Amino acid sequence: MDAVDRTESVAASRRRARRFLRALARAPGVSDLPSVSQLAREKRDPYRILVATWISLRTKDNVTLAASKRLLALAPNPKALAALSQQKIERAIYPVAFYRVKSRDLRAAARRLVDDYNSVVPDRVEELVTFRGVGRKTATLVVSLGYGRDAICVDTHVHRVSNRTGLVHTRNPHQTEFRLMAILPRGQWIGINETLVRFGQKVCRPVSPICSACPARSFCPQVGVGRHR
Ligand code: SF4
Repeated sequence: MDAVDRTESVAASRRRARRFLRALARAPGVSDLPSVSQLAREKRDPYRILVATWISLRTKDNVTLAASKRLLALAPNPKALAALSQQKIERAIYPVAFYRVKSRDLRAAARRLVDDYNSVVPDRVEELVTFRGVGRKTATLVVSLGYGRDAICVDTHVHRVSNRTGLVHTRNPHQTEFRLMAILPRGQWIGINETLVRFGQKVCRPVSPICSACPARSFCPQVGVGRHR
């Protein structure tokens, strides 16, 4: 197991990232796609990504996928979503976490998209985060998966795995996003979210990661890991 040098150079971090990502390709379940990525593969549409990512917050992947499909069938564009009542949206996305708040905010966002953006989802992170309920995680996923622009979406899995493995030494997802941008080639920015989310769900779990099944265990510094299997 490697020791972690918190002051290691960008070049050393890049080598660490290459080694880790090569090993990760062999991890069980990592080739499966997260729900939002599945929807993006079916049709690249920033509106679909926005809706699905919104629904996904603090919600399990299988619940997200089913709820997103139900709502997108009822409201395939911002105008249709703005025309739905909050109750109809709630019924469509139940039982996702915070479904009432999400329904209210989704409807308000749809109205703003129609009124102020001619029903086109903005393509800039700075613009997207001005919508109530949209954080950096949602905005970067819309920009990357919806518009194909190079951006790194850092959610709780990406932040945790990146720190445990010593790729970064950061206190919050925002810092992680910028450090990963410094050490990963641009061509890996979009895909790193899918890889680390799946790896974080299947192997490097929040509580008790399954280190015994991890292809990176021989060199992972396991930063901050207590109990593991
Ligand atoms: S903490 Fe464990 S599961 Fe996570 S990357 Fe390191 S060895 Fe693998």
